[in-house]
Amino acid sequence: MSDSTLLEDRIEQMLRLWPTVSEVESPEVLRQKLGELAHNGLTTADLRIRPFGRFQLSQGPFVSSSVTRAILWDECRPSDLWMAEFCRDAHSNWALRSLKPECQGCFKTGVISGNAVCPLCGGVGWGFADD
Ligand SMILES: [Zn+2]
Repeated sequence: MSDSTLLEDRIEQMLRLWPTVSEVESPEVLRQKLGELAHNGLTTADLRIRPFGRFQLSQGPFVSSSVTRAILWDECRPSDLWMAEFCRDAHSNWALRSLKPECQGCFKTGVISGNAVCPLCGGVGWGFADD
């Protein structure tokens, strides 16, 4: 199997395994369930994220030799977006490194009121500055 097929397969697995708000599952249980799909750097805050419906993959993930970034959306709330970042683990396999919601302060632009860095996400456009 080619590297890109493996990556697609891993993203699909992650989308299928991720619980929705109606499925009660602790971050610890989810980490176990994800197994090698979860990178060591994946935080408990990331693992607490629950969409209303299943995550769907948007078109055109960004793929480089060391990182893959994909936009996910909620099948029940299509305007809710997340950034999923995959990095290679110790065995060189793709693993989910972080999962962050679209910043509600700057709507993924990273800036507010002209040219100020968004204080909610720290200018990244996704997630929270403290994560
Ligand atoms: Zn922001």
